[in-house]
Amino acid sequence: MGIIIGLTGGIASGKSTVANMIREYGIPIVDADLIAREVVQIGRPAYKEIVETFGESVLLEDGSIDRVTLGSIVFNNEEQRKRLNEIVHPAVRKEMMDQKEQFLQAGANAVVLDIPLLFESKLTYMVEKTIVVFVDSSTQLKRLMERNQFSVEEAEARINSQMPLIKKKELADQVIDNNGTIDKTKKQLEHILTIWNLI
Ligand code: ADP
Repeated sequence: MGIIIGLTGGIASGKSTVANMIREYGIPIVDADLIAREVVQIGRPAYKEIVETFGESVLLEDGSIDRVTLGSIVFNNEEQRKRLNEIVHPAVRKEMMDQKEQFLQAGANAVVLDIPLLFESKLTYMVEKTIVVFVDSSTQLKRLMERNQFSVEEAEARINSQMPLIKKKELADQVIDNNGTIDKTKKQLEHILTIWNLI
């Protein structure tokens, strides 16, 4: 039986960087963000429900969902956001579970669920162990501004909308401190995978 690991972090903390390192060890990753985009594609059940709920004004010309328009509808409207989440979240959870099962059936001794909002969305029941990719606030702000070409205000707004990384760190089984070099981060990951008998 394989071990199920939850990988999380904060925006620009280096979660994707670490996920790519994990992949290099041949450990399969189930990517929640990718799945969230896939489940709303044309023809999928969640797509139909979104159009029924929010109307055709949330569609682009090619019939696909306009994520920007939908995002602006739910951004400042708690009730609408709840309705959207009630459509998308169960579909994402189901697809994550299905993919995880497939990897286990194929003989994987570990599967990593890459979930940005693992703690905020209370999804820790899905995993046995958690890894948080941590950076200091100043590193997070700097890397987010550089990666997304954000102003300080834009970057801070996004960081502040999430659970503080320091709090996620407290909730983690293992923490990877990603303030240093990529090499230092890789060594920490190697250590964790070693103590969990995965490499
Ligand atoms: P997340 O997936 O958590 O949003 P990323 O993995 O995309 O974060 O990392 C955020 C940015 O910081 C990216 O531009 C990435 O290349 C860079 N980065 C990540 N880790 C390091 C590191 N240890 N040193 C320097 N830059 C890093």
